[in-house]
Amino acid sequence: MIENNSIEKIERNKALCEKYPFLTWRGDPLYIGSYSRDREPTYEFTWEDEVPEGWRKAFCPQMWDELKAILEKADYVNEFEFVQIKEKFGTLRLYSGACPEEIYKELSDWEAKYDELSTHVCINCGKPATQMTTGWITYVCDDCAKEISGRTVPIKDLDEYYKNPKKYWEEHQN
Ligand SMILES: [Zn+2]
Repeated sequence: MIENNSIEKIERNKALCEKYPFLTWRGDPLYIGSYSRDREPTYEFTWEDEVPEGWRKAFCPQMWDELKAILEKADYVNEFEFVQIKEKFGTLRLYSGACPEEIYKELSDWEAKYDELSTHVCINCGKPATQMTTGWITYVCDDCAKEISGRTVPIKDLDEYYKNPKKYWEEHQN
């Protein structure tokens, strides 16, 4: 997980977490025993590192600015915590812990918005996504699709593909 603990990286992460306290990493909350709210963060890693590179390029920092604006409404910027950030079925999933009721709806909408937006952005490089990989589903651009060994389906063909994948491949040999 920690690939580069250079002083520059730590300084950069510190500045990031000062601006967006909810990106502070205190261990993996899903890994029992590793997480503690009281633990001093090392800043070798932040929650932003959990966002795949293409989406990080495309969505950060505006995604964090939007979250901060929502949290400020409930004075919750310093209390908010992520539970998990990951890619699932090709889209960005932002899972958070408890939050005040008055911002629950807005927070859910924010999570859903980036879940949806991520299907249009290449997970590898951040360019517009044009292809879907099959098997392990991800959305990628034409250039990144060429680097992938498995078959990809143009996003414009997805309806046709899902109707009958076998028939689709018979008609589109690639
Ligand atoms: Zn790409």
